[in-house]
Amino acid sequence: MRARRTPRAGLTGGAGAAWSLLLDQVAEGVAVLDARDGRFTILETNAAFARLIGAGACRLTGRPWREAVPAADRALEDLFRQVAAGGEPAAERRFRAAPGEEGPGDALTCRDWRCLPLREGGGAVERLLVVVADATGAVLREGGRALDLALLEHLPFGLAILTGAEQTVALANAAFARLAGVAPEDLAGRPLRDALPAGELAAALERAYRTGEPATADDVVLRTPGGATAWRFTLAPVPGPDGGVAGLLAMAVETTDQVRARRAVEDLAAAARQRAGQLEAIIGSMVDGVFILDEEGLVVEANAVGLALLGLSPDAESRRLSDYLAPLAPRLGDGRPLPPDADPLAGVRAGRVLADEELFLTAPDGRERAVSLGGAPVREADGRVGGMVVLLRDISEQKRAEQEKDAFFSLISHEVKSPLTAIKGYAQLAERAVAPGPAGERQSRYLGVVAEQVARIERLVEDLSEVNRLRSGVLRQEPVDFDLAALTRATVERHRVTVDTHRLELEVAAEPLTVHADPARIEQVLANLLTNAVKYSPAADRVWVTLERDGATAHLHVRDAGIGIPRAEQARLFARFYRGSNAAEAGPGGLGLGLFIAHEIVAHSGGRIWVESAEGQGSTFHVMLPLAGRGP
Ligand code: ADP
Repeated sequence: MRARRTPRAGLTGGAGAAWSLLLDQVAEGVAVLDARDGRFTILETNAAFARLIGAGACRLTGRPWREAVPAADRALEDLFRQVAAGGEPAAERRFRAAPGEEGPGDALTCRDWRCLPLREGGGAVERLLVVVADATGAVLREGGRALDLALLEHLPFGLAILTGAEQTVALANAAFARLAGVAPEDLAGRPLRDALPAGELAAALERAYRTGEPATADDVVLRTPGGATAWRFTLAPVPGPDGGVAGLLAMAVETTDQVRARRAVEDLAAAARQRAGQLEAIIGSMVDGVFILDEEGLVVEANAVGLALLGLSPDAESRRLSDYLAPLAPRLGDGRPLPPDADPLAGVRAGRVLADEELFLTAPDGRERAVSLGGAPVREADGRVGGMVVLLRDISEQKRAEQEKDAFFSLISHEVKSPLTAIKGYAQLAERAVAPGPAGERQSRYLGVVAEQVARIERLVEDLSEVNRLRSGVLRQEPVDFDLAALTRATVERHRVTVDTHRLELEVAAEPLTVHADPARIEQVLANLLTNAVKYSPAADRVWVTLERDGATAHLHVRDAGIGIPRAEQARLFARFYRGSNAAEAGPGGLGLGLFIAHEIVAHSGGRIWVESAEGQGSTFHVMLPLAGRGP
């Protein structure tokens, strides 16, 4: 009988010791079980086996499976039974909660079990070889990798891992691959600079790799079939074991929208700059002085002409226009000094347009200058007055020419008056000497025409003299309190006698309307309006005169159904010598002085005159005079 070796009872022969030695070297756990005793008694194990099944230092050999191993693994008996009966190897992966080595909590472990049948001489299965391997790491690695990839794929930005000096793409998510217009697997293995040939990106890659410092490349424009897009690349170096750069983590975030928005803002700014440049050029080349004032009324910009007019240097301190005017002794059109507290731009500040206010200045060079001041409010989007544009025009030359013209007219009217008086006198003498009879009647008619024409020339000369008196400020006005209603009635009455083409309709307030003005001058104004109304409504047969009280003023208006006045001309009607384009339609007429004189008279009386008219429909001229004793 051969001696039996107890500890390694499962194996026979001299190879047993070598076998045992070998078994102890392998990482897998190995056990040999008895396949026939129905209890799967453990015949032999290696060191790894006890560790892998969590049996610690317990004795396993010689004990039935169920008794030797922890309860959870007893179910493996089914596997053993199946192999023992069928003779085919089988395998199973089993998870098990194993007590943590440190601290509380169980760690999930995973074991791969294999069971192989051992037969002696090819007969029935006598023993089972059980191999157990730790699968926990592999399972975790696979699971982890799946998790990483899923995360990577769903990142809202492109991410790639680049390796080596060539920055070869080792891994890229779909977002990153889309940049190159390829699938992620087609990108892998290619150097990034080939896949995305962009100069700025190549430079950043080179920089990050060389310095080991993170680098960025902004607004890298990539052209894919879907169009051009802009990206921001961030490259983070991954240190290698030798301290060098093993690879780069490349992150790409799309910035197309930001780049577009930035470009739009830049384009707007460029357009604004261009417009500002154009505006500056226009303002600079204007013959008028241009001043741009801010909300507070401070001059923030002026062109060269404006600066020269006021004797300012380009770097003069920003002040109010009236502060710049003050040293130039500004005077009003009638020669009175502009009161120090008067702000000629107050109306503009309140949102109105100031049209051509005349001022006289003593220029910095000591010369007298006439300027015309105009201004307009600049409104903000919300309608608020955010500033003003003021024009200052040097009208000294124009004024001089006007003065010369006035002198000329005054000379002419003087020279014309004496011969006219002579002609009139002789015509009257001739009239008296006309003999009765048909020839005499003809002569008388001719002399009548002479007298009529002489009277017309006299009226023209009178208008001219009147204008000259106005210019020199000597238009005589002797204001008294009088009833405008009575004066209106009387004037209309007188005109009814001479006007036979139109009926003069009169509507006058019953109460007296007392105003303080020169009655002769006011009658002159009304007479002029009546004459014009008749003259410029040749096809009509009526003219309406109305006088009514309107608050603290007397409101007189003269309406006709005549040819009307083009809108563009209405503002100029009251200027000297201005005749409208419609004047010729009304036949030979005056000099364009009547309304100018009327305007001067009304303004001097503290009132206002204006027109409302529609071409082809007629005109209404309004005069407002303050009622006496009711303030200014
Ligand atoms: P004149 O009548 O001598 O031309 P005015 O100063 O009285 O000069 O009038 C100036 C201009 O105003 C006229 O040339 C005419 O074009 C226009 N005008 C004045 N009154 C009327 C009116 N009632 N209807 C139409 N146009 C008028």
